Amino acid sequence: MERLFLSPPHMSGKEQQYINEVFESNYIAPLGAFVQRFEKLVTEYTGVGHALATSSGTAAIHLALRVLGIGEGDIVLASTFTFIGSVAPILYQNATPVFIDSDESWNLDPLLLKEAIAKLEKKPKALIVTHLYGQSAKIDEIAAICRENSIYLIEDAAESLGASFGEKQTGTFGDMGIYSFNGNKILTTSGGGMLVSDNEAWIKKAEFYATQARENALFYEHLEYGYNYRMSNVLAAIGVAQMEVLKERVAKKWEIFEIYRQILQEIDEISFMPEVSGSKGNRWLTTIALEKSNPDQVIEALTRENIESRPLWKPMHLQPLFNDATAFTNGFSEALFQKGLCLPSGTQMTRSDVERVCTIIRKSLKR
Ligand SMILES: *Cc1c(COP(=O)(O)O)cnc(C)c1O
Repeated sequence: MERLFLSPPHMSGKEQQYINEVFESNYIAPLGAFVQRFEKLVTEYTGVGHALATSSGTAAIHLALRVLGIGEGDIVLASTFTFIGSVAPILYQNATPVFIDSDESWNLDPLLLKEAIAKLEKKPKALIVTHLYGQSAKIDEIAAICRENSIYLIEDAAESLGASFGEKQTGTFGDMGIYSFNGNKILTTSGGGMLVSDNEAWIKKAEFYATQARENALFYEHLEYGYNYRMSNVLAAIGVAQMEVLKERVAKKWEIFEIYRQILQEIDEISFMPEVSGSKGNRWLTTIALEKSNPDQVIEALTRENIESRPLWKPMHLQPLFNDATAFTNGFSEALFQKGLCLPSGTQMTRSDVERVCTIIRKSLKR
């Protein structure tokens, strides 16, 4: 049987044509017409004012922190239940991460966020909140808390492009937001990211830092240091073709989720990642939690059948790297890490692929 991956790349068919156009133009560089087209498509789709294509989502978060002036000694609050790329940039800036646990939404708990702000001796400068597995956090409440306390809000929407809360897309509620186009995300450019904001000056400043902080002079003049973080025009061509099918991809992710739900809901101990009231996720990955059984036995059974599955993210406050970090916890993310797993959710899966995964899950739980 062919291997089933969690979320493999799914090309639209237009990518090669656009790449050919890039080659004809010879703009095989981290600038060119497709970079701008890609940025424009993202602003149009999400409704955000301005966008900057970057070499990765992690780079986009790093740029956000730099532009917002976050540095040594500053406290940056962050979701603990996330991927390392979300929080490593806090360390790049020599700032201090403080982790916040999840609630029943699996995403950041607004009550714990309030508690953290009240209890910390020093006022945090920013919050990086993740929309986990493509499902929106309680972003209206979270944004309100940040506003009331003058804390910058950075949305890590790496996994949630195409997800919305109310009328607005995730990634557009905060001061800045980021998307990722890594190989396993809902859209991919093989690797890449996007920094977005309604604040044009911040995006301009981010572009300056992303292109080695070169001052406006014929020679190379530097008052500050920057990074080489821009996206290649070749990869942006892939991104343009991918943006054209985002709606279809979201619809297909939902279809896959619905098949899983129909089949697996009869197993009492299985629950799915919920959806916050008023939001509509993109169901990037279908994720489940098991009330009684150990997910390892399911993962092993799937692996034997050449099917990829994985535990949920290991919370940052449990990572040896962050042994010394402050964390406001309630046990939610730790419990989910113990009992949860991600299922194959590629948009090229057929109904029978999903059924096959479900059959193996059911059998492995009977044992
Ligand atoms: C993928 C991901 C990132 C990092 O994006 P890259 O483009 O891989 O650097 C950050 N945060 C979350 C939650 C992610 O899933």
